[in-house]
Amino acid sequence: ADFIVGLTGGIGSGKTTVANLFAELGISLVDADIIARDVVAKGSTGLIKIVEHFGADTLLADGNLDRSKLRDKIFSDDSERVWLNNLLHPMIRESMLQQCKDAQTDYVIMVVPLLFENGLDRLVDRTLVVDISPKLQQQRTISRDAVTAEQVKNIIGSQASRAEKLSKADDVIDNQGEISALKCKVLALHNFYLKLASNS
Ligand code: ATP
Repeated sequence: ADFIVGLTGGIGSGKTTVANLFAELGISLVDADIIARDVVAKGSTGLIKIVEHFGADTLLADGNLDRSKLRDKIFSDDSERVWLNNLLHPMIRESMLQQCKDAQTDYVIMVVPLLFENGLDRLVDRTLVVDISPKLQQQRTISRDAVTAEQVKNIIGSQASRAEKLSKADDVIDNQGEISALKCKVLALHNFYLKLASNS
């Protein structure tokens, strides 16, 4: 596909739920979180370069990346953090674009939690923000994960604000209602994106 819709939204907003509804309509998904894990998977070029740079103690006994060790190493060292980002971000971007290109559907949904924060909105043709109130973000995240209201609040605070996301969005999907209402909205957007993709 060469028409890419970037799907984003804050923690617990319903990105996965919305993405799965597009998938039910036959649209291919590209998931930034999965790709970010794949580029440092056991045996990957990314992981080999990390071990070369940071040392063998960034590996667990089973050959997987020791994420907490790596976090410690970049935590207090900005230049190391920059080094890691310069290694991984281009690999992630390239892999995302390749998967979009390979997708055989009329358009593709790229799910990126930090789309605006990481400037990945520049890679897509259209941005779609799943929007709910911070209160609902908190409620839904707490009922899904074993986290406290305080923890959710901190994560919300670390992400782009609701206002910023809304101002940057090409399209907004309100997910404060029932799933049945959400399905209708996704179907309408699907038909809209089919049109945009065929005109592009
Ligand atoms: P995260 O960024 O934290 O991974 P997300 O944006 O992918 O979250 P989902 O996992 O899709 O969000 O949704 C968060 C929770 O809210 C899930 O448990 C989901 O089932 C539920 N949920 C999503 N939409 C609705 C809705 N319209 N009504 C009720 N519950 C919903």
